Amino acid sequence: MIKKILIANRGDVALRVLRACRDMGIETVAVHSTADTDAMHVRLADESVCIGNAPSKDSYLNVPALISAASITGADAIHPGVGFLSENADFAEVVSAHNLIFIGPKTDHILAMGDKVEAKRTAAEAGLPLVPGSDGAIDSVDEAAKVADTVGYPVLIKAASGGGGRGMKVAATPDDLSEAFSSARSEAKAAFGDDTVYMERYLDNPRHIEIQIIADSHGSTAHLGERECSVQRRHQKLLEEAPSPVLTPEERAHIGKIAADAAARMGYLGLGTMEFLYENGEFFFIEMNTRLQVEHPITEEITGIDLVREQIRIAAGEKLSFTQEDVSFNGHAIECRINAEHPETFFPTPGTVSNFHAPGGPGVRMDSFLYPGYKIPPHYDSLVAKLIVHGEDREHCLQRLRRALQECIIEPMPTSLDLHRRLVMDKDIISGDYTIRWLEEVFLNKDED
Ligand code: ADP
Repeated sequence: MIKKILIANRGDVALRVLRACRDMGIETVAVHSTADTDAMHVRLADESVCIGNAPSKDSYLNVPALISAASITGADAIHPGVGFLSENADFAEVVSAHNLIFIGPKTDHILAMGDKVEAKRTAAEAGLPLVPGSDGAIDSVDEAAKVADTVGYPVLIKAASGGGGRGMKVAATPDDLSEAFSSARSEAKAAFGDDTVYMERYLDNPRHIEIQIIADSHGSTAHLGERECSVQRRHQKLLEEAPSPVLTPEERAHIGKIAADAAARMGYLGLGTMEFLYENGEFFFIEMNTRLQVEHPITEEITGIDLVREQIRIAAGEKLSFTQEDVSFNGHAIECRINAEHPETFFPTPGTVSNFHAPGGPGVRMDSFLYPGYKIPPHYDSLVAKLIVHGEDREHCLQRLRRALQECIIEPMPTSLDLHRRLVMDKDIISGDYTIRWLEEVFLNKDED
């Protein structure tokens, strides 16, 4: 039994975990930096502990402070949330070494999937189809040139420790290769402290479709369908929907089974997401995230399954509360990520919120930590709200989303609300006809015309 959980995070995900705990009668401990003393997750938790100064390295990434906080408050488990230490295998080890339950997968899987070269090797062994590319890391431009000749241009050089779309460079022709190779390496070194890179064919115009999988410690593994995450800028997701507008039920069942079987073969535990690029009816594995995803609510909306609750139950050694046969998909859900950022430059726009109104009504869920008078700190991610809307079908969902976006107020700073308001009126979004390049190459260019 888990009685008290320390939530090692902030923002919307800290609130999300806190809400699942409340629903389960589990006590909560919030942690916060000195910049987050007035944050909503701190206000709502049963207890809270200040773990350090504003920079993440001093607080949300401060492992000794987190472990001390858990010990002082008598927590018996730690939920790492999303980002920060959620995919840090050392942290998971330290948590277990202190006789605390880490609410997440096994350390081996966090490690293997955290290195994308290793992840692709593991995925291939487990039977997943890969994007054609290098067999492991690439150490020199000469090697890169050889691999690129077999893979075929354009190619993408990617950081093995990559995340958030960083450390990724395209070489359209052999002439670009040397520059792409060295800039990917230096960006990777600066961002992740690791300059290991690998190569993939740069797919022309794919969609990003990911599969949610879940596994307990009693041998049950299931998939919960897909999320379509192709609306991206700078390789970062902005709007996600489930189900994908393009998959047939047969394709869904097929890729879902392949992903769940692969997870079972790995002996995976907990929640995981296998990300694929999808082009011309084919799936290509790119990476696996060994944690809760930002966009998990759309899966919750169409399956009726509380993913955080399941995650906590699995960590406590309980069985999945459903089987694959029990999983059915009801209607359509869309999530809009609302960032406090400049609409053109996408630079963060922190500051004090003067006015905030969360939309409501049938089918509308707003996961946000804002309130009037709240000061958005400049130190963290610019995501301030997730608007999640459910409808009977895609058209119904989009109509409700338009209504919700109209009602939503976040003032005075610029946010991505206006971008979302324009997106939901766009004919390509309405028809579901978009790929990962669409937002930057088509939609934002339309604006400039
Ligand atoms: P990160 O971990 O940094 O998010 P991913 O490997 O998940 O990196 O890729 C992020 C995004 O980059 C994908 O959703 C897709 O838009 C694009 N991308 C990644 N690999 C390829 C590829 N081989 N061809 C084309 N686009 C790619």
